[in-house]
Amino acid sequence: QAKAAGRNAVRFFDPEMQAVASENAALAADLRSAWRDNHLNIEYQPQVGMDGRMTGVEALLRWEHPGRGPVQPEHFIPTAEETSLIIPIGHWVLEAACAQLALWARRPDRAHLSIAVNVSVRQFRHPDFIDEVMSCVRRAGVPPGKLKLELTESLLADNLESVIAKMRNLKEMGVRLSVDDFGIGYSSLSYLKRLPIDELKIDRGFVKDILTDGNDAAIAGTIIGLCRNLGLDVIAEGVETEEQRQFLARQGCHRYQGYLFCKPLPIEELEAFIARVEGEAGITPEPSSAAS
Ligand code: C2E
Ligand code: MG
Ligand code: MG
Ligand code: MG
Repeated sequence: QAKAAGRNAVRFFDPEMQAVASENAALAADLRSAWRDNHLNIEYQPQVGMDGRMTGVEALLRWEHPGRGPVQPEHFIPTAEETSLIIPIGHWVLEAACAQLALWARRPDRAHLSIAVNVSVRQFRHPDFIDEVMSCVRRAGVPPGKLKLELTESLLADNLESVIAKMRNLKEMGVRLSVDDFGIGYSSLSYLKRLPIDELKIDRGFVKDILTDGNDAAIAGTIIGLCRNLGLDVIAEGVETEEQRQFLARQGCHRYQGYLFCKPLPIEELEAFIARVEGEAGITPEPSSAAS
């Protein structure tokens, strides 16, 4: 094929672009089969408060490719969006989260936990999205306040009035709204105060070098201050060390998610993890427990 093209085909576009295009098409076809054959899974990563107690989890998609092994969400979510597969897949994640919340709601030792679900722009834009969330929550019979939707700032590139109207509908239902990866997108601060949101999630890109990069530290500190002043909850993602956690705590951020506490786990492993940490007095971060 390459040989034939090399010798006498007239190239209409550059071979690198063609390679990328066929790679994308292959990924899309693979993703379609993965969805059909139930090769997609969900893992849950704990979110932890100041006292080391879990406040909830974030649901994260996993794809175990039979040949290629695990495929990263960062790699396949864009394809899922381009192909619209994100609509049924996203719906399935939402259903699974609500079903899990229903199980937890019946257990006094789990009923306080929330589940955060990532919602892509494509999903949020879909005219049926609000109704789907509502019917998911109703059918599962879960307290809507335990469901948190993580939206991204890229939503704000759409018509702001209609975005706000949809957010209000979700809020009226009692569902909680979080802005994921906050700080890397379009947000204008004047938009922020108009959005009916509950929480900002500090992007892990700012947490990574928070101890050594003054700009990252300043941005994280500004987001935390913004939340304090606007009455929003704040959570930091990608917290990997106790030093990062302490730095964030000093700035006033009291909820965390990251490998310091726990990586994303399949539900059975998460249940075992919860049973263990609830038996102790909350989650003891790995490094400090090793040091003591
Ligand atoms: P996100 O929503 O910002 O999720 C946080 C990401 O940080 C997850 O990556 C998580 O595994 C990773 N992470 C957590 N703690 C640490 C840490 O301490 N250090 C580092 N380096 N990373 C940490 P993951 O699972 O690869 O997901 C990547 C992105 O894919 C997510 O970013 C989200 O935007 C998207 N995604 C995942 N699941 C879904 C889904 O069900 N629907 C949609 N629309 N997007 C999803
Ligand atoms: Mg997220
Ligand atoms: Mg995030
Ligand atoms: Mg992120």
